[in-house]
Amino acid sequence: MKPSKLPMTGSCRCGQVKFEISAPPLMTAACHCTGCQRMSSSAFSLTAMVPADAFAVVQGELVIGGLRGPQLHHHFCPSCMSWMFTRIEGIDAFLNVRPTLLDDPGWFSPFIETMTKEKLPWAETPARHRFEGFPAMEDLPRLIAEFAAAG
Ligand SMILES: [Zn+2]
Ligand SMILES: [Zn+2]
Repeated sequence: MKPSKLPMTGSCRCGQVKFEISAPPLMTAACHCTGCQRMSSSAFSLTAMVPADAFAVVQGELVIGGLRGPQLHHHFCPSCMSWMFTRIEGIDAFLNVRPTLLDDPGWFSPFIETMTKEKLPWAETPARHRFEGFPAMEDLPRLIAEFAAAG
């Protein structure tokens, strides 16, 4: 559940936007909410919570799409419209990167899954912790510590 080598590189569908991640993720997740189902055009979204200071866009510009705030800032490639990462207003420590954009996403699996109350009946993941909604902010340090210990 940890990348085998750093930095990790990734890009959008068309390759116009490229990014680099220089630290392991704080945690990984799958989200079953209907918003993620719509935005990913799939059963759930996948997230690597990456320390903000370890993330850099190294090529291309981004545009805001999706909900267009005020709480969530969804960043997209302006050419192929791939949903690349999300910044949450008021949270500066990490941002949520879509791990299937990585050149090597093979290490990824979701550690938690969220919003299972809205999930499609057949949608299952191997996540260790399931939440009907979202985990409380005060639970995050414990989950992050457990993810780090899990290796
Ligand atoms: Zn693109
Ligand atoms: Zn969601």
